[in-house]
Amino acid sequence: TIGDNFDRTVQAFGDRDALVDRASGRRWTYAELAAEVDALALGLLDLGIGKGDRVGIWAPNCAEWTFTQYATAKIGAILVNINPAYRSHELEFVLNQAGIRLLIAAEKFKTSDYAGMIEEVRPRCERLEHVALIGGELWNSLLDNGKRADRVALEGIPLAADDPINIQYTSGTTGFPKGATLSHHNILNNGFFVGELCNYTESDRICIPVPFYHCFGMVMGNLAATSHGACMVIPAPAFDPKATLEAVQAERCTSLYGVPTMFIAELAQPDFESYDLSSLRTGIMAGSPCPVEVMKQVIERMGMGEVSICYGMTETSPVSTQTRADDSIERRVSTVGRVGPHLEVKVVDPETGLTVPRGEPGELCTRGYSVMLGYWEQPDKTAEAIDSARWMHTGDLAVMDEEGYLNITGRIKDMVIRGGENIYPREIEEFLYTHPDVLDAQVIGVPDERYGEELMAWIRMREGAEPLTAEALREFCTGKLAHYKIPRYVHVVDEFPMTVTGKIRKVEMRQQAVSLLG
Ligand code: ATP
Ligand code: MG
Repeated sequence: TIGDNFDRTVQAFGDRDALVDRASGRRWTYAELAAEVDALALGLLDLGIGKGDRVGIWAPNCAEWTFTQYATAKIGAILVNINPAYRSHELEFVLNQAGIRLLIAAEKFKTSDYAGMIEEVRPRCERLEHVALIGGELWNSLLDNGKRADRVALEGIPLAADDPINIQYTSGTTGFPKGATLSHHNILNNGFFVGELCNYTESDRICIPVPFYHCFGMVMGNLAATSHGACMVIPAPAFDPKATLEAVQAERCTSLYGVPTMFIAELAQPDFESYDLSSLRTGIMAGSPCPVEVMKQVIERMGMGEVSICYGMTETSPVSTQTRADDSIERRVSTVGRVGPHLEVKVVDPETGLTVPRGEPGELCTRGYSVMLGYWEQPDKTAEAIDSARWMHTGDLAVMDEEGYLNITGRIKDMVIRGGENIYPREIEEFLYTHPDVLDAQVIGVPDERYGEELMAWIRMREGAEPLTAEALREFCTGKLAHYKIPRYVHVVDEFPMTVTGKIRKVEMRQQAVSLLG
């Protein structure tokens, strides 16, 4: 279980750095972290929280998030990650849907008055018994009681590796988020293998600007670190490119995480060259299509020579495929790598379910230890996603080459069909990144009377560049892309609509585009 694995790391690396919370300037060795985790675990038991109870956590990244993650795992309570961007209506939904008994929350952050929103919905959440605001009265008494309690209470709790331990909501990129129910076995193994393929040891220091509420932060970040004795560095409560670069420099981080847009923002900092990032060895880019140009810059300008791309989804703990340091550079910048240890992947025709020949696109499916137990109290949705042979159908389109390297060509829902031609926006986006004035590019399909769908490119310009016109874009593409892949419309924006996990919400872009075109 996660607790056993954590305790082994504490045994082996007790005096090494475990956690750094830059916002508050606090730091913990593994022995110190274990003391906080055990105190909180004992405090929770004392409050009457036990195995199978749902404990919600609603806070931006902070050390207490991490304490809660390990304390709940130790007593077998089910941690429910709540999106820090939620507002009262969504909070109420999650509290009731997951049947949360104890909610641990930040009091407030920026414009989020968490405490106020909790009070607002509390009368309508019957199963919510306790609220512990971090640093508040109940929180402090949990830790104080725990510190006085006999550690023996933590032994003999009947935990099993396949118990549900965590409900993680998907990003909600394509619709309402679904609660993936995950076991120790699911996420601990995934964190361990992700760390293994990054060659983590107790000397590594991992900078984690991605949210803990999402699997990227809590599994690929925290669990990968603690299962190898590495140190977790929290640069800021929420993503901030400057704070991230500062954290890497000040903490001599060896690894840096991010979704593509985070790396794009860091590389575009006007004072980027003034940071000493020479400690960086590796890192992970994941979560959405990773542009080749951005990967190259991460290697060349950030010095992350061993950086890997991971592909996965919340429902599969999350990682299914990963590039490795010994893959060719070409593959490391342009593919999502090969299947991870002890997992299977296949690419099928979504209509017939039959495996397609190598080199042809189809729906990617994953099977193995990583596949979730199911969506929390949504058996119909679970049955749609996981078939009777336990294959998880990802909804993503992929192409596998002869040697098993995969390319994700996009989500099935984002594929554009123009005049009968299947168009994968990813391919066009990759090409647009090669334009010197383009900072970031996204391509969507918009309804069209003549062709069914037409392409629209959304572009973020580099600082100081003139907005790109549709004519200029067409000129740039002509002779390089087939005529039907050249976007008809261009829309220059400052930001794309995004989820908190840094994913671009094409659903929302399509809605906006329809009203733009009137
Ligand atoms: P929802 O399921 O609620 O619509 P979501 O699918 O974005 O949201 P997550 O589980 O956070 O929620 O994200 C998984 C998805 O992210 C994958 O299905 C895939 O579409 C995308 N993704 C993850 N990693 C990569 C990658 N390396 N390249 C391309 N796409 C990726
Ligand atoms: Mg999804």
